[in-house]
Amino acid sequence: MRRVHLRIGRLAGVMVDAVRFCFPLVAEGTVVEGAELVVEEPEGRASCLACGAEFVQDAPFTPCPCGSRRFRRLTGEELLVTGFELVEAGAGAAPAEGGDGSCAGTAAVARERR
Ligand SMILES: [Zn+2]
Repeated sequence: MRRVHLRIGRLAGVMVDAVRFCFPLVAEGTVVEGAELVVEEPEGRASCLACGAEFVQDAPFTPCPCGSRRFRRLTGEELLVTGFELVEAGAGAAPAEGGDGSCAGTAAVARERR
């Protein structure tokens, strides 16, 4: 496995540095051992239910510029495995997509393919 792609929203409450630090440890002895972690960190965005505006959120409850705190979250809470890149076909691992969207899922996928 060459690369593992993750999408961790900035409002997901996950410390990306901690994930980067832990990844080599949980990956050891699995098909993702030695793989590079590529992390995409989408910003928090929401759609205001009062005025309909789309706005950026630095924190989970950042209000709309109109003052409303009633909103629908659009992005920023994702916690997904978005892809795997393989070194070559037939190296013992099959292409995979998705996962259940959690860090535990990442480790589970890795273990089940050992
Ligand atoms: Zn608004």
